[in-house]
Amino acid sequence: MENWQEILQQSITTPEGLAERLGCDINALPEVIANFPMRINPYFLNLVTAADDPLGKQVIPDKAELDDRVCIPDPLGEEELSPVPNLVHKYPDRVLFLVNNSCAVYCRFCTRKRMVGTPRMRTSKETLEQGYEYLKSHPEVREVLVSGGDPLLLSDTMLDEILGNLRKIPSIEIIRIGTRVPSVLPMRVTEDLVAVLKKYHPLYINTHFNHPREITEQSSLACTMLADAGIPLGCQTVLLKGVNDNIDTIKELMRGLLRIRVKPYYLFQADLTRGVDHFRTNTRVGIDIMKQLYSHLSGMAVPTFVLDAPGGKGKIPLTPDYIVSSSDKELVFENYQGKLCVYPEAGCSL
Ligand SMILES: *Cc1c(COP(=O)(O)O)cnc(C)c1O
Ligand code: SF4
Repeated sequence: MENWQEILQQSITTPEGLAERLGCDINALPEVIANFPMRINPYFLNLVTAADDPLGKQVIPDKAELDDRVCIPDPLGEEELSPVPNLVHKYPDRVLFLVNNSCAVYCRFCTRKRMVGTPRMRTSKETLEQGYEYLKSHPEVREVLVSGGDPLLLSDTMLDEILGNLRKIPSIEIIRIGTRVPSVLPMRVTEDLVAVLKKYHPLYINTHFNHPREITEQSSLACTMLADAGIPLGCQTVLLKGVNDNIDTIKELMRGLLRIRVKPYYLFQADLTRGVDHFRTNTRVGIDIMKQLYSHLSGMAVPTFVLDAPGGKGKIPLTPDYIVSSSDKELVFENYQGKLCVYPEAGCSL
């Protein structure tokens, strides 16, 4: 079997390549790709049945990306929140550390599309060193989210070095890796990679699946290998118009993830990222979907629906309203079937 680097090298990165394979209209594409790069690797391309199917939409550039007059380049204010390049310190006890600028596919809805896969994002020995130094002098940081781009596109040696350096910092308790590799390039999860990762427990991985069709024999095998190495797996799904913005798709996805030992963690409201407006749903859509998940589905399969507030204000959960009224005596609420229930507060009875 080919190795993952070879598979990645055969990725489609030009409009001509795309036209040849999917026969779609590519007139506007050179301009889109000049702004936001394209990469569709053969593994993922093979799952795409049409340019406008839920998988195609995630990776095939759309002219709408350039028509966006609403959204902004850096909606989460990550640049202002970076004390050193590629390290975002927003919350008191954890940081986001961007260690690589490339990905196995370039998702059209990426929050960091202003820079991922372009020269506008530079990761180097120097930025890594600056990151380690920052972490050493900020012992209040207990957790590092290693992300990018996709950290798992780095070589095993490089990852070993980065994780080793982080583990040398005594105040770092938890390492969390954010990666889309299990869903878009599962053959990257090799025995050698797993052997590196398992040296650095407690290590968590949050992966990123958006559609049940991304759950294949190969992606389940990748997740099994990681889970067997004792790595707890979570999933960060993005709610995307025309891809997964309906209850049946989300239900099937969340159940499918649990079956491959991935615990749904977050369902994200799409960020206000320039070039992504055409993927955004009304917040009501996500809240209604959540209402149809709670208690109808195993609690294990239910993610938290979150909105990352513009300007780096942080993530907040968007939850359906169950509370009808509350007083010192009782809480009145609706249950998952819409039936009214009463719970007497402490010291009170029914
Ligand atoms: C999302 C995010 C985190 C992690 O948040 P959790 O709620 O712990 O998953 C940390 N730092 C930044 C900058 C983030 O955007
Ligand atoms: S894998 Fe993640 S970082 Fe890379 S393009 Fe997709 S959403 Fe962005």
